[in-house]
Amino acid sequence: MSTTDRQEVLRHACTCGRGEYVVEHCSPDHPWARGYWYEADIICPECAAKYVLEVREKKVVRVAKTDVLARAKKETEWHAKLREIEEHADSQGHYDALARWLGSFRSVAAAFRATRGLMLTTSEGTFRKRFSPTKEWAKRTISYRELPAALKNVNRTDPVLEDLVKEAETLWNTSRREPAILEAIYN
Ligand SMILES: [Zn+2]
Repeated sequence: MSTTDRQEVLRHACTCGRGEYVVEHCSPDHPWARGYWYEADIICPECAAKYVLEVREKKVVRVAKTDVLARAKKETEWHAKLREIEEHADSQGHYDALARWLGSFRSVAAAFRATRGLMLTTSEGTFRKRFSPTKEWAKRTISYRELPAALKNVNRTDPVLEDLVKEAETLWNTSRREPAILEAIYN
């Protein structure tokens, strides 16, 4: 069983002054393990309702909880958009068309060359092991970002799909935006 060594490195008054911010330096309790991380806690119901202590690149910063929740919401919306893209593509028969295209190559190597850049799989070895010219494989392996490009190979264009992909990209980029730092707590 693995345990964690913890050492408190900071304990000071929280923003409202009625509680505390606590930062612990943590490392795995194994002689051969390396590395460390920080864990931070807000011991104050009032400040915990308003703020989050985030660990960024081994620094601890205080950010607004509303920002953290907004970012999580964008992530959820991004996941929902991916499902929408898949359902839409399915309903239009795109994956069936792509499966027929994948089945039209003379060899796996030819399929790899033709689909390189469209697939999440990047090495030819992995491709060889997993390739199957089926709808399920196409669904699993073609990145949603590349779906409009993949469809060009089967002479299909789908403006609705292209808009959905753009919406997904916007959600993704927004969900990656880090909340503004209100205060550096520890570094
Ligand atoms: Zn407080």
